Amino acid sequence: MPFSNFGLEAEILRAIQKAGYLRPTPVQAAAIPKIMQGNDLIAIAQTGTGKTAAFVLPMLNRLAQSNRQGPPRGAKTLILAPTRELAVQIMENIRDYGQYMPIRVAAIYGGVDEEAQIKSLRKGVHCIVATPGRLIDLLGRQKLDFSQLEMLVLDEADRMLHMGFLPDIEKIVGALPKRRQTLMFSATLSKEVESLARRFLYQPKMVQIGKRSDPADTVEQCVYEVPAHSKNALLLELLHSPKLKRVLVFVRMKDGADHLTNFLKLARVKVAKLHSSRSQEQRLQALQDFKDGKVQVLVATDIVARGIDIDGVTHVVNYDFPVNPEDYVHRIGRTGRAEAVGEAISFVPKQDLNLLQILELFIARRLDRKRLRGFDYHAPVPPPMPGEKTPTRDWRKRTREMEAKKSAANSANSSARAPERSADKRREK
Ligand code: AMP
Repeated sequence: MPFSNFGLEAEILRAIQKAGYLRPTPVQAAAIPKIMQGNDLIAIAQTGTGKTAAFVLPMLNRLAQSNRQGPPRGAKTLILAPTRELAVQIMENIRDYGQYMPIRVAAIYGGVDEEAQIKSLRKGVHCIVATPGRLIDLLGRQKLDFSQLEMLVLDEADRMLHMGFLPDIEKIVGALPKRRQTLMFSATLSKEVESLARRFLYQPKMVQIGKRSDPADTVEQCVYEVPAHSKNALLLELLHSPKLKRVLVFVRMKDGADHLTNFLKLARVKVAKLHSSRSQEQRLQALQDFKDGKVQVLVATDIVARGIDIDGVTHVVNYDFPVNPEDYVHRIGRTGRAEAVGEAISFVPKQDLNLLQILELFIARRLDRKRLRGFDYHAPVPPPMPGEKTPTRDWRKRTREMEAKKSAANSANSSARAPERSADKRREK
């Protein structure tokens, strides 16, 4: 569909032509007609998909039509963005796409002198692009008039939530007219984003483009905060539930996989293990036993985890919390495949809480915290397992060494591994 089919004003089509855009990107093709019809909209699209034009073009169209009614008395459209850089970029986009229209736009963001911003507001603007913090500041000092506002855009909503802007967004939206069109753009659709949409959008239409960085809407994710020495006991307790039929357990180290497997065997759990020191035959056998349901649990390290593609994994357990957020995404993608519902459980001892924080930023959602009723979270350190060398082993040091080795191998070998990675990506989809 060409841009001319959207019903955009001639001066906007002229600017699009000047930008050299031949046809709309998928997010533009899906979102622009819905916005032009006046709907509220949630669009799940990442930066680089053309999402800015997807909301700026119909916004300009609205302004072009109301512009004919005279100069602005108060801003008609407001765009909230998480960072100063993004706010400036959006403003520049508006100026580009609106270059053949008599449009006035102001960017309001912190970290710079506010006088120039207040001055441009005083002159009257059609559109404000702002970061929430500075806008709240000016709002509190009566420097803004939103009585004429018709359209609100929340751009990169997931990022704004994770930067702690929710209270500011609430205050800002509370100061806007209730009758307005609201658009929300987000890279991921987390529970928090959905809840924001429920509160601030009216019967929104939905558009979703491309791959989400949150891979698994079909995977329920939760966290147990548990001391490191109680992880074995907690895993065992959880495995008693009949719901945990086919469980993939991830550990960081090969010897960790060995110890955990021994522990589970002693506790009469049917278990197999999979890591790089095992022979190809042993690995295939372990996988086959897991696929055939001969074992309930497969204990694996990340090195081999990426290649595993098994239907019917009901649970992924991050016995050791992944050091890289990407690994988490890969790991939990092993369950909930092909629309099946799966569950990802992560054990997080105190020393890994920072990794959890980093992960939650990465996937733009907070994971549910769970506690198992009746479980003794204050149990003393158990005696070492037979063959367990040192319970105080410094995994951080070893992880750093492994990471260094991995990245050295990667850079030496990156072209050879590229096909493996893209095959992996295809599997992830
Ligand atoms: P965004 O996702 O909004 O950050 O846009 C990413 C890039 O795509 C920007 O450089 C835009 O100028 C460009 N762009 C947006 N829409 C189109 C289009 N229809 N055709 C070609 N490039 C586009």
